[in-house]
Amino acid sequence: MNIHEYQAKELLAKFGAPVPAGIAALTVEEAVAAVDTLPGPLYVVKAQIHAGGRGKGKFKELGPDAKGGVRLAKSKEEVEAAARDMLGNTLVTIQTGPEGKQVNRLYVTDGADILKEFYLALLVDRGTSRISFVVSTEGGMDIEEVAHNTPEKIHSFSVDPASGFQPHHGRAVAAALNLSGDLAKQAAKVASSLFDAFLGTDAEQIEINPLALCEGDKLYVLDAKVGFDGNALFRHPDVLALRDETEEDPAELEASKYDLAYIKLDGDIGCMVNGAGLAMATMDIIKLNGMFPANFLDVGGGANKEKVTNAFKIILRDPNVKGILVNIFGGIMKCDIIAEGIIAAAKEVNLSVPLVVRLEGTNVNEGKELLANSGLAIVPADDLGDAARKIVAEVKKLG
Ligand code: GDP
Ligand code: MG
Repeated sequence: MNIHEYQAKELLAKFGAPVPAGIAALTVEEAVAAVDTLPGPLYVVKAQIHAGGRGKGKFKELGPDAKGGVRLAKSKEEVEAAARDMLGNTLVTIQTGPEGKQVNRLYVTDGADILKEFYLALLVDRGTSRISFVVSTEGGMDIEEVAHNTPEKIHSFSVDPASGFQPHHGRAVAAALNLSGDLAKQAAKVASSLFDAFLGTDAEQIEINPLALCEGDKLYVLDAKVGFDGNALFRHPDVLALRDETEEDPAELEASKYDLAYIKLDGDIGCMVNGAGLAMATMDIIKLNGMFPANFLDVGGGANKEKVTNAFKIILRDPNVKGILVNIFGGIMKCDIIAEGIIAAAKEVNLSVPLVVRLEGTNVNEGKELLANSGLAIVPADDLGDAARKIVAEVKKLG
């Protein structure tokens, strides 16, 4: 789960990270009123969407010459003009995709005079199964290019979970940023507070870009992107309260309501499978047969009729889906019950694309018989390979 920049900064501030003052605003009036509570004379008006690259982004409604989603303002009037430009309009950045994201919230912050921009991130490194720091002197808006063209300018090291964060980790961050004296101490303190925040909230990613060296020789977290491990959210009701559902993929959001693990992909074959491993294998075998899965969908162990119906509906929301492959192993769930669910669901959603069903497990013969006698054009399959070949053939038949 991701959160907005203003929420991330408020959270990180609680763990001791140095964050400029700022106020979130939902209206132009609120944005203007925020000016009175900030020291000035410089303000920054920032679009709040769950995507980076806002500074270099473009508003669809404003034309190519207009400024992006991060604007410096020197007066109330400039804050007002920026807020009017942004609220309700669609910001397109390299992370939003061409459709962009509508801006519904702003963050008005105290503007800083930046001397240098650094990059500092924490994430879980799968290679070492540890939390890792990623540090670079080349922060700012082009970190992707730095990583691509000059990877040697990006330093990374992991923290042993047995010892936790140690002073030497802080010194390593400072050294990677070429900082000494008081600034090195500040960098170490920032690193330590970010690590505490990461552990304390079960975060998945904390990315500070830029960590800025500002006038007065102070380090500030000027931009923050924080994401959390969805499986640990039950431990953090305060974090869960920060969820902004309008930022999430509508189909994935719908799926989470029915406790279905759904991830939209780019292919043509919708998949409904029980068990994550079987779902992965099903996607692989579709690819092996020359087409691509439209989604990952694990209906879980206790799939009932309601769940199967909702799963069908969610798969069919995707206009790319040209056929559906159901691959279910009836272990705890019996195959005849699953077949009843599939038939009821196919009737309810008025299924108009080819459907191949592979059932295996308890009561498989009863299940197959139900499907055969359903009057629906369901293509039965005997095993995984057979199922994948059949759905690909069915879809290709349609052209
Ligand atoms: P992003 O484009 O979505 O990553 O948004 P950022 O918050 O990182 O802002 C983009 C850029 O705007 C930063 O890299 C800075 O160069 C600039 N910026 C952000 N805040 C300030 C500020 O307080 N003062 C100044 N001078 N520039 C800022
Ligand atoms: Mg940034």
